Amino acid sequence: MLPRRTALLQEIRSNLPEALWKLEEWDSERSLDDFEPLLADDVAAHPRQSDVEPRPEAKRVFIKTFGCQMNVYDSERMSEALAVEGYVETADVAEADLAILNTCHIREKAAEKVYSDLGRLRDLKSLRAKSGKETFITVAGCVAQAEGDEIVRRAPVVDLVLGPQNYHRLPEFLSRLRGGEAALVETAFPDEDKFKALPARSPAKSASAFLTVQEGCDKFCTFCVVPYTRGMEFSRPVAALVEEARALVARGVRELTLLGQNVNGYHGEGADGHATTLAGLIRHLASVDGLQRIRYTTSHPRDMTDDLVAAHAEEEKLMPYLHLPFQSGSDRVLAAMNRKHTADDYLRLIERVRAVRPDIAMSTDIIVGFPGETDADFQATVDLVKTVGFAYAYCFKYSARPGTPASSMDGQVSEAVKRERLERLQAVLEDGHRQFNAASVGKTMPVLFEKAGRQTGQLVGRSPYLQLVQVDGGPEFIGEIVDVEIRAAGANSLSGVIRGSM
Ligand code: SAM
Ligand code: SF4
Repeated sequence: MLPRRTALLQEIRSNLPEALWKLEEWDSERSLDDFEPLLADDVAAHPRQSDVEPRPEAKRVFIKTFGCQMNVYDSERMSEALAVEGYVETADVAEADLAILNTCHIREKAAEKVYSDLGRLRDLKSLRAKSGKETFITVAGCVAQAEGDEIVRRAPVVDLVLGPQNYHRLPEFLSRLRGGEAALVETAFPDEDKFKALPARSPAKSASAFLTVQEGCDKFCTFCVVPYTRGMEFSRPVAALVEEARALVARGVRELTLLGQNVNGYHGEGADGHATTLAGLIRHLASVDGLQRIRYTTSHPRDMTDDLVAAHAEEEKLMPYLHLPFQSGSDRVLAAMNRKHTADDYLRLIERVRAVRPDIAMSTDIIVGFPGETDADFQATVDLVKTVGFAYAYCFKYSARPGTPASSMDGQVSEAVKRERLERLQAVLEDGHRQFNAASVGKTMPVLFEKAGRQTGQLVGRSPYLQLVQVDGGPEFIGEIVDVEIRAAGANSLSGVIRGSM
């Protein structure tokens, strides 16, 4: 039975036009353009792999995640919902009974990648059909929400289009597909809470995990699709989050990154029935025994309240790292973006944060080539970057998104100018990253080790400032926070020696 299955898989693979099952490499555009803030290493846009050794007869699901950490979290929750139905995750799309593309709509390039993948999945599905195997293809995430029926029209191979608020209904839709229904599309914002309907968390894959605390956004920046794809702001209640945090810690998690499109706008219901701020939530989570580190992303400057700033001074478990997008250094562009803050407001805010936590590492998001951006506007962005000194930053070429106000503004900037500005800005940012990392050499810092490195005997972890740290060490350190003396630094990582093993 097994050799036949292996032969079949080999046949399918050798017939595929491109090696879709292989891990995709990042585009060699060599920019951070394709990265989302605080991307969990190279997890997003890579197929996820299950730790569980599947039984030969188990159904397999292949999930490819595009975009931000929120999608990484959602993919985990979909996988857990499917596990209840007997699905086991596979990194090999050729053996998948169900393939899910969990998509991102934030920039055009990310959205278009989905259609090229669907072309390859169409070929795979027909090859599998020839050997009597059924393959259901699902498009989930923000492209699903934004494009709905249009996806099935452009790619009739798709069986199911499922918006982010409906993941808990995945088993129900699969059973309808098995019953013979075709091309199901669900993009409603249902009244029921998907988080209540999703099954309990499965064993942790890493000592560091994501926890979605807030979804959606009401700010309507003129360039952004999030308010349309993720809907209005919604915050999960404190009690549900503390319960999920406890469950994750019991499964080996030591660090939580609280996620939200606008996380510092969090206003979930507390035990007293009143809205709790993000700072309040952090304090509740900090009381969870065994949880050692807390981070949060992504924040909006306007929601950086005094109590959240103070939490950076008072709450030991809150890591000294703040991702705070400023988008542009030009007040004229900021107004056209509907950001409702100025460059000076942003600088004053950073002064407030640094006053209470001088060592805090700052990171940000920047858009270049927003409609109407002049050379002087761009220079204001470069100046702001130099003034702040970012430990890390993500910069993007402006991408016109259908239906957003900026997409029809006058003064759209040419691709060539956007590219040139992106390259100039990246050079300045990279200098900053190098300087920030170089300042760590000679220091000893606690590192949470998350996984083995690429080379045998190597471990990879994160410093409190989210720097990637590599050391030589055994697997016994994975999941532990260990003091490391930093010996060398590059633009993107540090290397060092575990204290005690020197
Ligand atoms: N809520 C966060 C804030 O307001 O700062 C940002 C979250 S957004 C999902 C992530 C980042 O994608 C943004 O900070 C912005 O830099 C970038 N982005 C969003 N829309 C974009 C567009 N149309 N073109 C280029 N970059 C975009
Ligand atoms: Fe998009 Fe962030 Fe603006 Fe909301 S605040 S519209 S998520 S960029």
